[in-house]
Amino acid sequence: MAVWPENFNTGDIDSSGEYLENCVCCQHEYNSSKSTDGFFSSISFEFHNSAFSTRISWGSDTFYSCDTNESSDIKFCFRVWRSRKMEYCMDCMNCENCFGCFGLQRKSFHIFNVSYTEEEYWQKVDEIKCAMLERGEYGEFFPAIFSAVGFQFSMGDAFFGYSADELQKMNVPMLDPNSGAVVVTDETKVSDVIFPEVLPDSSLDSKVDEYVGRPILDSKIGRKYSITSDELALYRRLHLPLPHQHFLTRLSNLIRMSNFSVPELTECQNCQKKITTYKNATFSERRVFCLACYNQFLEQNN
Ligand SMILES: [Zn+2]
Repeated sequence: MAVWPENFNTGDIDSSGEYLENCVCCQHEYNSSKSTDGFFSSISFEFHNSAFSTRISWGSDTFYSCDTNESSDIKFCFRVWRSRKMEYCMDCMNCENCFGCFGLQRKSFHIFNVSYTEEEYWQKVDEIKCAMLERGEYGEFFPAIFSAVGFQFSMGDAFFGYSADELQKMNVPMLDPNSGAVVVTDETKVSDVIFPEVLPDSSLDSKVDEYVGRPILDSKIGRKYSITSDELALYRRLHLPLPHQHFLTRLSNLIRMSNFSVPELTECQNCQKKITTYKNATFSERRVFCLACYNQFLEQNN
């Protein structure tokens, strides 16, 4: 059985988490680099001061937000770039002091996409926050129904593979995965569904050409995909087999070969020291060593 290190971190100071690179004072972080003072944040790059946030880069001071670039002082936001002092906003760029807005560009002192004077803005934001606090809403992130891609097709699902029960508990609206999906551009081939089992094993097989541009059903997830001529040319050039699964299944399988952000207490299987490692969905049976034993193992085994 292959030997794994307790984590894959490099060059960190006073930090904990998985896949960290040159981070300082980051705790329970995941997949972050060159960041400082993070707490339960992930996919953070050159970011200072964050908590419970993900996909954050080149900025500072974010709380409970996702996808913030070159921004500061961002709370409960989703995809807010080159902005500051924003709360409960989505898809806003180059904005400042906005609350509950969507899709704004170069605006300030807006609430629900309506412009206010600075004085009116702070008064109204106070009133809204007080009402939200009374209803127990302030401090919560957007509910699952706000997910632009559909919660069951999100990166969260790609990582964790939520069960139907978990999705129901999170009040996730279940979307039809085939609604609006464009599988093939040739209308004459839309009803011409085939199953992956009939695909030849090798992409070099000349019979493969007849399957290009036809809908292929991944019956496990009930979704169709197709193979384009450019894609086939790549498989042939690299001598790869044809894919037998929908591309989201392939993406999930690839992601799940890496470690999760979920910690697990265990002991080094060489020196029995207590260590924290990170769960892996694909390789559940692993021989995990503490970093000292892992480095020693590498030296002894080249
Ligand atoms: Zn050890």
